[in-house]
Amino acid sequence: MKPVRTRFAPSPTGYLHIGGARTALFSWAYARRHGGTFILRIEDTDVARSTPEAVQAILDGMQWLGLEHDEGPFYQMQRMERYKEVIQQMLANGSAYYCYTTREELDALRAEQEAKKEKPRYDGRWRPEAGKTLPAAPADIPPVVRFKNPKDGVVAWDDQVKGRIEFANGELDDLIIARADGTPTYNFCVCVDDWDMGITHVIRGDDHVNNTPRQINILAALGAEVPTYAHLSMILGDDGAKLSKRHGAVSVMQYDEDGFLPEAVINYLARLGWSHGDEEVFSRQQFVEWFDLDHITASAAQFNTEKLLWLNQHYMKLTPPAELTARVKGILAARGVDTSAGPDLEKAVVLYVDRSNTLNVLADAVEVFYSHVTPNPELLAQHLSAEALPALADFVAGLATVAWETPAISALVKEVIGKHGLKMPKLAMPLRIILTGTAQAPSVDALVEMIGRDHVVTALSKHL
Ligand code: GLU
Repeated sequence: MKPVRTRFAPSPTGYLHIGGARTALFSWAYARRHGGTFILRIEDTDVARSTPEAVQAILDGMQWLGLEHDEGPFYQMQRMERYKEVIQQMLANGSAYYCYTTREELDALRAEQEAKKEKPRYDGRWRPEAGKTLPAAPADIPPVVRFKNPKDGVVAWDDQVKGRIEFANGELDDLIIARADGTPTYNFCVCVDDWDMGITHVIRGDDHVNNTPRQINILAALGAEVPTYAHLSMILGDDGAKLSKRHGAVSVMQYDEDGFLPEAVINYLARLGWSHGDEEVFSRQQFVEWFDLDHITASAAQFNTEKLLWLNQHYMKLTPPAELTARVKGILAARGVDTSAGPDLEKAVVLYVDRSNTLNVLADAVEVFYSHVTPNPELLAQHLSAEALPALADFVAGLATVAWETPAISALVKEVIGKHGLKMPKLAMPLRIILTGTAQAPSVDALVEMIGRDHVVTALSKHL
């Protein structure tokens, strides 16, 4: 078996979107699984749409996901001489030819074919054939170069996702591989790159299925070994429509901004069209050990935001508290919230992590402890009943001397409600509202302990 070499070959025309990230992940994982090499290639020949910012967005996204490449990034724009050299070789060996058909002639040809209800296609007028006499080359027309696609037979491959796919060669035009200005075209560059880079497995989106027969024919003409292909089905949004910008966070870095952990996104993407039995939660290492092309589903995968949130919460809980705290501290700092005055941030993070499914939600929850909380007066009036006020006063008095630990505070809460004959929420709800501004908060004993004696006593006393 040849050593595995895979590549991710994005066009830098936007950000790294979730579909591209999944393609990158599968290509990366396949290389890692087989001790192979993962190559990053930037397909930037569409100069009108490619930007340095988009290149950077791809590099950032890959880095954030931890999909490190072993070779590259190679930029197609830096390989122009190589493409031109291969075109010359193909012209010399007869696998490509100059075509002088003008735009007007092509338009006329198309009109004629459409009138006859035929599929518009190049008619091969400049294609050299044994015994055929070509017109004299016009000196004033810069020619394009066309690939001499085989005329007969079929071109087929065993797609690792979709099964056997066949195209009749008769259906394929003689593809333009160099424009009149000499620049090579997209499908051609991909072939030269896959060949030069020794790619053994091409894992990419199924929007490329129609390019594959052309690429296989060109690779064969070059004498290159044809790689194994795996075309991944598209990703649908939560609503079943093709995933697009409409669905919100489709850029990988948007997930970072929204408070997702890369490990959660990786685990999530791994299950987007691939499975290992019923396994839903697994580490990157485990994924690499399990990953194969046989268990990629041919049908479209559907995005499920709830599941991603669930995984994110899982990975947040697994993250060491100190690390989680550093992340939350960063988020709060970016919002201008100083966490040095107030309770210990790590304690707050630990108390709220179970209730938060993103880092941002966690930051939102703990932010109140470092900014001035004004309980909603209506909400407070609704929950702080006249009968609870004396209990609240007793509680505040008890806080002055209670041992500052959750079980002792819990005992104090119980003692106070027992003495006043109240049910727990009668005291707990106003406490939560006063201390956090909302009624959705963790158990009051832990909350009070985390906030600290002075802060709690001051805040509660204001309402007596
Ligand atoms: N540059 C192509 C794209 O972004 C990928 C080409 C390929 O993987 O062969 O869709």
